Amino acid sequence: MSTPDTGNGAGTGATVPVAVRDASADMGSSSSSSSSSSSFLNLSHLADNPMFAGGIGLAGLGAAAALARRGVVSGAQVLRRRLLVNVEISRRDPSYPWVLAWLSLPRESQGFLASRLTRIHNLSVATATASATANASRHHHHDSGSAADGPTHASFFLQPGYGRHLIRHRAGVYIAVNREKQSSSNMTTGEPHETVTLTALWAHRHVFEEVFLEARALAARANEGKTAVYSVQGMGWGPLGEPRKKRPLGSVILDEGVKEAVVADVRDFLDRQQWYVDRGIPYRRGYLLYGPPGSGKTSFIQALAGELDYSLAMINLSEVGVTDDKLAMLLMNVPRRSILLLEDADAAFVNRRQRDPDGYSGGTVTFSGLLNALDGVAAGEERIAFLTTNHIDRLDPALIRPGRVDMMLRIGEATRYQAAQMWGRFYGDVDADGTGCARFLARLEELGLIEGPRPEDVPRRHTSTAAIQGLFLFNKSDMEGAIRMAEGLIPRQFEP
Ligand code: ADP
Repeated sequence: MSTPDTGNGAGTGATVPVAVRDASADMGSSSSSSSSSSSFLNLSHLADNPMFAGGIGLAGLGAAAALARRGVVSGAQVLRRRLLVNVEISRRDPSYPWVLAWLSLPRESQGFLASRLTRIHNLSVATATASATANASRHHHHDSGSAADGPTHASFFLQPGYGRHLIRHRAGVYIAVNREKQSSSNMTTGEPHETVTLTALWAHRHVFEEVFLEARALAARANEGKTAVYSVQGMGWGPLGEPRKKRPLGSVILDEGVKEAVVADVRDFLDRQQWYVDRGIPYRRGYLLYGPPGSGKTSFIQALAGELDYSLAMINLSEVGVTDDKLAMLLMNVPRRSILLLEDADAAFVNRRQRDPDGYSGGTVTFSGLLNALDGVAAGEERIAFLTTNHIDRLDPALIRPGRVDMMLRIGEATRYQAAQMWGRFYGDVDADGTGCARFLARLEELGLIEGPRPEDVPRRHTSTAAIQGLFLFNKSDMEGAIRMAEGLIPRQFEP
């Protein structure tokens, strides 16, 4: 799926009649029109000539034959149109990979090799690069690793190759499959455009509904418990690695009540579509999470997407190549049911200051570009956008408008509450009475890392939740080790 479509999903392949071009039909028409040139000649003379009369007779026969052939051809076309139903699925449609995956399904009753593909003699291999749905049939030949593990763990499956195939859907119901590469290519990715056309008898036309439902269910099963992540690829969106296992919301520890407040707000927003429609307000909600790096902003948004059963569409605004135009286009085509994440929102503001006098911003997004993209007349669907920044001071108040940013939250350095919660998640089972946790917290106080009494010569310092997680990971089954090494949480001072 190169450019996830924002259009609707399964079962929406357009029904188009097959265009049968037949050369003989054209020939027929040209031969009949050529006879009109005879008006220049003296016809009565010619008719008296027996040779010529015979010639006319022959020509007449030829014309009649051509006409008859034309009749047969168009009759066959009519018959074809009447008897057959085609469904064309374009590669751009989200259902495309599902249908390919469905086509490569083995037929349980006939064993592994005697699959649906036994009638397809031209197969192609698709190595799973993580398309959300190509995954659907991975159970054929796959290794449990993720795409990130490299070629040794890549998974692949067989799918119908280009050309025509015939598959037996179930007893007595056959579907002809024609997978074609078109000469035109995708403007954004340069990939050749492709279509798959399914053809069935008119009498079996309802089979398509079944096929799409099955294909969609297959894709849904493959992605159950997973969060698909999209990122910018070429000029559009593309899947970023395999769909990941959902991150449980409980695994992200924010300060007391913060997580709950955001989750409640997003849920409330999702329940209120009609409210927005009735008032003619764009159905959008924006959140700005700011604070130091490693405080769990990205992890939280990813977990939230999983919790809501949404995908995540990420753009890093500090990336070179994300220009204003591209950003506007990306925001207009956010993959369906995705939370939009704009990371490093401050990049746009830095660029504003550093813009050349001639307006060139070095191939990155500008402040007005960001605002325009956020305000753009996107599809009528809902949009949930999260902006993150490590530098709130660089942002412009113009960003804080309904629809752009409705809610601002600081996700800060680790607090006592977070340290205790994270301890519980790591050592809760070995520290049932909580004395280990109390000693850990006392140690953090002593080091000035959380609020509480500390020695006079110790300054108040801060540490990140990422650092605490790192400490616990290093001492996975050794809580004493974690307490002993707590000093390592003190941020290092870098001398300039
Ligand atoms: P940010 O986006 O704020 O820079 P990330 O979400 O990228 O932070 O976190 C970096 C790493 O630290 C991740 O592996 C994440 O699991 C961990 N981490 C950071 N903060 C938290 C937190 N509050 N709760 C759980 N894990 C956290």
